[in-house]
Amino acid sequence: MNALVFDGEPRFATVPKPAPGPGEALIRVRCAGICNTDIEILRGYMGFAGIPGHEFVGVVEEASNGHLLGKRVVGEINCVCGACPYCEMEMPNHCSRRTVLGIQGRDGAFAEYLVLPEENLHLVPDELPDEVAVFTEPAAAAFRILEQVEIDAADRIIVLGDGKLGLLAAQVLWLQAKNLVCVGKHAWKLALLEPLRIHTALADEFIEPGAEVVVEATGSAAGLERALRLVRPEGVVVLKTTVAGTSQMDLSLPVINEVQIVGSRCGPFRPALEALALGTLVVRPMITATYPLEEADRAFEHAQSGNAVKIVLRMSE
Ligand SMILES: [Zn+2]
Ligand SMILES: [Zn+2]
Repeated sequence: MNALVFDGEPRFATVPKPAPGPGEALIRVRCAGICNTDIEILRGYMGFAGIPGHEFVGVVEEASNGHLLGKRVVGEINCVCGACPYCEMEMPNHCSRRTVLGIQGRDGAFAEYLVLPEENLHLVPDELPDEVAVFTEPAAAAFRILEQVEIDAADRIIVLGDGKLGLLAAQVLWLQAKNLVCVGKHAWKLALLEPLRIHTALADEFIEPGAEVVVEATGSAAGLERALRLVRPEGVVVLKTTVAGTSQMDLSLPVINEVQIVGSRCGPFRPALEALALGTLVVRPMITATYPLEEADRAFEHAQSGNAVKIVLRMSE
């Protein structure tokens, strides 16, 4: 099969089709989204070698559960052992023996086929097109915030960042609290929130500090510093940025203001799929371009250009 392989350098290659192990399904990938994590991986983040890609929609071709055969699915990316202390504490996303699709110890979705445990799969409703369903994984990451932070309808919320995750976090939190502003550097990206009438502001505008919750999704180390200045004492800062690198900053401010800093990663697929099916999240306009898998190099160039929100790779119809 054809795949984008990363082994220090990304290259388009022909590799053997993966063979599903016990409890795993073979999935023909229809399309896959390029995420900032993939861009970081190609820069050496996580020391990953193999096929990257973790946001996908595909069709099950082989599975022990016959009900899955021929069905369109999306899949949770953490593949867990079920027996380690974190699995026993029902924190499977932190399984100490986990592999993660296209990120850690497991080939991912930038290929014609992938394998995942059947228990990771979710059926995609027929009416949901691939171009919408491919947002399930990043939308689930946004829904994770609602599992971690109790948000009151009266809370004031600031989302920093107008990339994919910032725009999704703004949409998901707006379902919960309407006093929300999404702050970004690009008027054209912020305009994607206009159909939902979500307030936006440019990064150099004055933003009133004192918000109950600030979500940091800028993808830059400077975002945390700004978040800590905008959150109110005893407020919550949610960190969504994983940057391959380190930042040096003064952490006395969150101590003095007794701010909670909450790291936030993968989230629940069910509410994400439901919100996408109901149309309460508007994601399709976020796709800037679609490329065939063979043009993955051009797709990645575009994704890193600053002129794109979501870039999608198309493997098959
Ligand atoms: Zn991602
Ligand atoms: Zn485990």
